[in-house]
Amino acid sequence: NDKIRIGIAGYGNLGRGVEAAIAKNSDMELVGVFTRRDPQTVSAAAGTAVFPWSALADHRDTIDVLVLCGGSKSDLPVQSPELAASFNIVDSYDTHARIPEHFAAVDAAAAEAGTTALISAGWDPGLFSLNRVFGEAVLPDGETYTFWGRGLSQGHSDAIRRLDGVAGGVQYTLPVEAAIEQVRSGIRPALSTREKHTRECFVVLEDGADAEAVREAIVTMPDYFADYDTTVHFISAEELARDHAAMPHGGFVIRSGNTSAEHSQVVEYRLALDSNPEFTSSVLVAYARAVHRLAAAGQHGAKTVFDVPPGLLSPRSPEELRAELL
Ligand code: NDP
Repeated sequence: NDKIRIGIAGYGNLGRGVEAAIAKNSDMELVGVFTRRDPQTVSAAAGTAVFPWSALADHRDTIDVLVLCGGSKSDLPVQSPELAASFNIVDSYDTHARIPEHFAAVDAAAAEAGTTALISAGWDPGLFSLNRVFGEAVLPDGETYTFWGRGLSQGHSDAIRRLDGVAGGVQYTLPVEAAIEQVRSGIRPALSTREKHTRECFVVLEDGADAEAVREAIVTMPDYFADYDTTVHFISAEELARDHAAMPHGGFVIRSGNTSAEHSQVVEYRLALDSNPEFTSSVLVAYARAVHRLAAAGQHGAKTVFDVPPGLLSPRSPEELRAELL
């Protein structure tokens, strides 16, 4: 049995997605899920072993790559450096402004321990980051545009739910179609935050709450909504449960550049995702394969998607890839 043995650290949306993704990759097997909660209270898929977090220490020799599925806000800044000291890891750390410090902390732990630790995999950061690099490298005289949506934003949904008078709610980010069309035309427009995306909120009020006050609190919220055109819809708890339980997302990375005075070139990469966590997890699992190979080749320390040769993501051999996909 030479399957790649995967562990899942943290069992939320991404943890469940990794479990599903491993079932689609016949060169991998799942050792189990590790959770900080009481394993009795966590119901995983049939056949998946659920272990307490403390059992990680006993699994150093039975896990090839540990996929970290904790939250970026407070879990991964602690868990990634800690676990990189014992395991090869992959994480999905997505707080873009803090990636350099996260990389440094994980790199110190992994370099010391002789492990391989791939941080910030997923789609953004992740596959979108790769496409931004391709665009810039190939078309140095150009502009890169990233549009997100239509997609559910967890952070913005949480911000709404914390407001007084709000019983529940979700927020969708929508790209402005007119802006995308301008970018696709190759004219390289300068677009403000407000011109690129709008925000749409579906909110369930608590009994007796003042709808106008809640709307005002949302649309003026600094950092989250004040810089955008935001629409607020009030709906019932039943409608929220029925129509807004999925986690769609996606977006576009577009590079528009000029190779001469006469010729403009536009390159576009698009994702349309039914389930953001299931797709993100599928990316994490492909990178877990690459991490296993990098570790076997003695390439230790922290890595990002920029450091991984694409062929390492594929279960197919280099010969097969050259013959069929080149
Ligand atoms: P969740 O909130 O679903 O899970 C995060 C952690 O919370 C889990 O690891 C789990 O840890 C704990 N948890 C989950 N459910 C419960 C519960 N019912 N009660 C108590 N604790 C719970 O987050 P997601 O899986 O949706 O996302 C994780 C991170 O992935 C996000 O913070 C985001 O930053 C990142 N991400 C990155 C993307 C990218 O493209 N790079 C795209 C999407 C997400 P435990 O089992 O130990 O309790």
